[in-house]
Order: sequence, then C-alpha cells, then structure tokens
Amino acid sequence: MSVIDEVVEANREYAVEHDPDKVSPRPTRKLAILTCMDTRLGKRTLGLEAGDAHIIRNAGGIVTDDAIRSLLLSHYVLGTQEIMVINHTDCGLMKHSERELKTIMEEKTGVPSNSKIRFHAFTDVEANVREQLQRLWAHSWIHDEMKIRGFVYDVRTGHLKEVTL
Ligand code: ZN
Repeated sequence: MSVIDEVVEANREYAVEHDPDKVSPRPTRKLAILTCMDTRLGKRTLGLEAGDAHIIRNAGGIVTDDAIRSLLLSHYVLGTQEIMVINHTDCGLMKHSERELKTIMEEKTGVPSNSKIRFHAFTDVEANVREQLQRLWAHSWIHDEMKIRGFVYDVRTGHLKEVTL
C-alpha cells in the first residue's frame, strides 16, 4: 500500500463525517497566507482551522507571479483583507545556491532543464521576507488598505517573528 493509498483510505473515513455546509469557500477570518511548503509549519502552528484562511504554499514562500495570481483572487474575489508572508529558519532554499540546485537536478536526470526555472535560493531569511514584501507592493493591484505583514517562523522555538522594513 502506497502513502497515496493510505491517504485515499483516510479520506474515505473522513467523508463519513463530512458536512459541506460547515466550511465556507470564503475565508472566515479574511486572511491569506503565503508560506513555504515545509512540513514543520502548518495550520496548527498558526492556530487556524479549515475555512479560516487561504494558505498559498510554494518552496520558500516566494512571491512568484503565480503566488500573486492567487493572492489577487483571494482578495478581490474571495474577500481576504490581510496578507501574511511567512518564511522560516532552516529553509531548504538556504542550503544550496541557485547554481547548485540546478547542478543537482542536471546530475540526477542527466539532462539540462528544458524550461526557464528559478528556485529562488537565498541566504538571509529576514532579507528574503523583505524582498517578498517589496515584490508584492510593486504590483499595481496591491493597494495600501491590504494589510500586508512579513514574518520568519523559527522551526526550533516554534515562534513567529515579525520582519519590519
Ligand atoms: Zn522552506
């Protein structure tokens, strides 16, 4: 049995108790979070339940065009008012340079990438959060009334630390 099979089985059990009217597609706490895909940070870390917030995740918690796409939909179509950008200590993107990551994949596959890919490797987590905030604010559809704040999650202590500009 693969892990996917286990998840499908767990879903079967979940569906017995599922109530479609219990959770709204519009985040009840009007919050959108952009964060890393890291396993150590989840809804529980932030005291959130299903239905509370949009959580947009990618490697690093990077403001890519696609993350902006999701955040704009979250705000303008689904009513979120606050945006939290969370990066974290000990992120995998701090362990290799951009070039090293490309080399790892080229060596593992034996071929170069056939797409323009950027992994957004970084060295300073706080500086990286500031860079993400600046990328957001640079978009013409991001406006002042959207409350946007940046944080670093410390995977050792479990604490969030706000990053100010
Ligand atoms: Zn990470």
